[in-house]
Amino acid sequence: QASTAKFFVGGNWKCNGTHASVEKLVADLNAGDVPADIDIVVAPPFIYIDYVRANIKGAYAVAAQNCWMKPDGAFTGEISAEMMDDAGVPWVITGHSERRLLLGESNRTVGLKTGHALEAGLSVIACVGETLEQRNGGNLYHTLDLQLQALFENVQDWGKVVIAYEPVWAIGTGVVASPEQAQEVHAYVRKVLGDRLGKATSEGIRIIYGGSVTDANCAELATQDDIDGFLVGGASLKAPAFINICNARG
Ligand code: PGA
Repeated sequence: QASTAKFFVGGNWKCNGTHASVEKLVADLNAGDVPADIDIVVAPPFIYIDYVRANIKGAYAVAAQNCWMKPDGAFTGEISAEMMDDAGVPWVITGHSERRLLLGESNRTVGLKTGHALEAGLSVIACVGETLEQRNGGNLYHTLDLQLQALFENVQDWGKVVIAYEPVWAIGTGVVASPEQAQEVHAYVRKVLGDRLGKATSEGIRIIYGGSVTDANCAELATQDDIDGFLVGGASLKAPAFINICNARG
């Protein structure tokens, strides 16, 4: 492994669930065996976070799927990182491609949200990744450079940041990146981090892969040198699959 950090698995529940399905998912996750020496974070929709936080077992931490970029104030409909900290929510996802593409979040916005969440005391899963058009047009690395640059401009302490590489063409499509494709990009991200922050720091940062991860493809991805875990969407809604993914390293 090129990194020295703990394996990390995130479950992004996206905009899915009812009180009944969330209750069942929490009960099923609580009943499963997951390794004690990895970090596992689940990200329910805001309205279910408090229930999950109060009822899920200690092996799982909770995350929000988004936060606002400023402290409390006149921002109708938004939830601040300070509120998450106050409510005992230790993690937040920033820059998910669905927010970038469906809600128009720019690199600058994602950078500001990431920086502010860290200042408010949260840990952050910051997402980057290219569209198929960007990849096919030869703009893969340029896209990543711009996304990472916005993070460099706003992050002081990288100790509480996990980077999720999620190629947009792999999200929710069933088309998973091959282990070689993912490793190539993760190694690039690690190199960029190393050039900016020094080798030791870059080796301590988790770079996780997301996009059509299942319990059938996770083991091979998990053997790659620069893949330190996963951000899981669809498969995180099924406890047996998610638990298997948490056990990807055996
Ligand atoms: P998926 O989503 O696993 O359903 O492809 C991943 C993500 O969007 O985080």
